[in-house]
Amino acid sequence: MSEFYGITLETISMPFFKDFSSSSLLSDSLSVPLSESGREENKSTVVPFRNGVMLSVLASVADGFGCKYIAIGNQYTEDSIYLDSKKEFIDKISSAIKVGTDSQIEVLSPLCDMTKTEVVQLGNRLGTPFELTWTCYNNHELQCGECSSCVKRKKAFLENKLTDPVGYYK
Ligand SMILES: [Zn+2]
Repeated sequence: MSEFYGITLETISMPFFKDFSSSSLLSDSLSVPLSESGREENKSTVVPFRNGVMLSVLASVADGFGCKYIAIGNQYTEDSIYLDSKKEFIDKISSAIKVGTDSQIEVLSPLCDMTKTEVVQLGNRLGTPFELTWTCYNNHELQCGECSSCVKRKKAFLENKLTDPVGYYK
């Protein structure tokens, strides 16, 4: 994606997530639940306070570069189990980051109140190279097509009458 847009990609390793989290997203032994699994089962995909940690780390790095903004692609719907994706959380951590950084950094969260269908619609309008995106909670060659993230993505493409260019196992 960074090559597509001609920007430099910097990565920050956060191994402690895997060291201390029991989330199925980070586990080598736990399976990611299928989409139709219950809400409680799907809670195994939660990495507690992940967005809070990532925004904090990013704010620290960005302040060193004198950046005015950092951005996150979170979404939150009423049935979401990812509490640090809530608009209220993003607004509050944005306020804290602004107060706590020399550059008075603001957090941009343009997708927060949008549905997945609206995100795909916007991405299509902007010419997003969807073939370079990854949504699946599993880490295989193709996207699984069965985890809650894959199912929401497939539904969003369907509702936009668009063909999803990424490959799925199912
Ligand atoms: Zn998947």
